[in-house]
Amino acid sequence: MRTPALQRAEPRRDTRAEVDREAIRSNVRTIRAAIPASAAFMAVVKADGYGHGAIAAAEAGLAGGADSLAVAFLSEALQLRRGGIRAPILVLTPIPPGEAPIAAEWDVMLTVASAAWMAEARSFKNPYSPAKIKVHVKLDTGLGRLGLRERGEWEALVPLLAARDVSVEGAYTHLATAGGKDTAYVETQIRRFREMTGWIEASGIRPRRYHCAGSAAALRFPELAMDMVRFGAAMYGFCDPRWMPPGGLRPALRLTSRLVQAKYVAKGERIGYDNGYAMDESGWIGTVPIGYADGWGQGLQGADVLIEGNRCPIVGRIGMDQLMVRLPRDCPAGTTVTLIGEEAGDCITCAELADRIGSVPQEISTALATRVERMYK
Ligand SMILES: *Cc1c(COP(=O)(O)O)cnc(C)c1O
Repeated sequence: MRTPALQRAEPRRDTRAEVDREAIRSNVRTIRAAIPASAAFMAVVKADGYGHGAIAAAEAGLAGGADSLAVAFLSEALQLRRGGIRAPILVLTPIPPGEAPIAAEWDVMLTVASAAWMAEARSFKNPYSPAKIKVHVKLDTGLGRLGLRERGEWEALVPLLAARDVSVEGAYTHLATAGGKDTAYVETQIRRFREMTGWIEASGIRPRRYHCAGSAAALRFPELAMDMVRFGAAMYGFCDPRWMPPGGLRPALRLTSRLVQAKYVAKGERIGYDNGYAMDESGWIGTVPIGYADGWGQGLQGADVLIEGNRCPIVGRIGMDQLMVRLPRDCPAGTTVTLIGEEAGDCITCAELADRIGSVPQEISTALATRVERMYK
């Protein structure tokens, strides 16, 4: 028979992510101090706050001095509104035009990347609602992703933007090579941006803010801050050391688990699916309850975890729910395993893990599944 208390019990996994809200808040403060005071700060909290939790990241960012927020999709914006967030929010990708009235009702700013989209979005607008469609115009200066490229496309948009139910809050572009070695392409994009903003000024439309810089561009080239900067990566502590702001940024996420079992395995024995690893000498193997379904993909085979202050490599194929590590000695079940974060003076960063899979730190943090509970400090 099940007792009521046990029916109510919430089982907790040993694998969990600790999010340090104070780190996000202090990172935003640190960044603010490093960029021109005239630039507004937009905190990018898309993809569940880069995996840290959207509402927690938004609240911490605003507490640290951010003026507004950005997300990728309207559903993410509504999650913030329903969570009580009142700050301005920009959706960075064009939404289905039929959803523009929802955005207007919730006071969410949208990205317009074509005249056709703007016309359609206005056609859905409730003519009796006083809420305007607030937009930022996206200009494609060379990323090749979203936005207007030709002057004709801009001219087609002008009459639609001039309508009374539309408010042009901004015009922006996104840079392709802000962290790259060669800065010539950044200059090319900025030159095109200036040319396009010339079209805008000539047509009499007055966007409230021009902006072009994400984390890398804004920290590396403060002169690109313009009226606003859009900070994602850096607010979570992801930043190339070469343009780290004075005082440094702190990682805000720690991922830990616990050993389920340790076993002594003889030389020549195989570990994991497909016999992916063979013991080159006898030794201790530990099993950790995290796998690719948690966002710890098979590309991380060979990466280290920290156990009792030692770096222990992941050996054999990573499974859906579990992986194995090579231990320096016997360790009891329950021993803490640090997958991201500091332990005994050593530290595993998202950047280190990202290097292994040929990506950026935010791919590691955003991959963490909802199955990994976030605990907030
Ligand atoms: C995600 C995103 C950002 C934030 O970029 P970071 O490099 O994480 O700071 C800024 N602008 C746009 C358009 C984005 O999509």
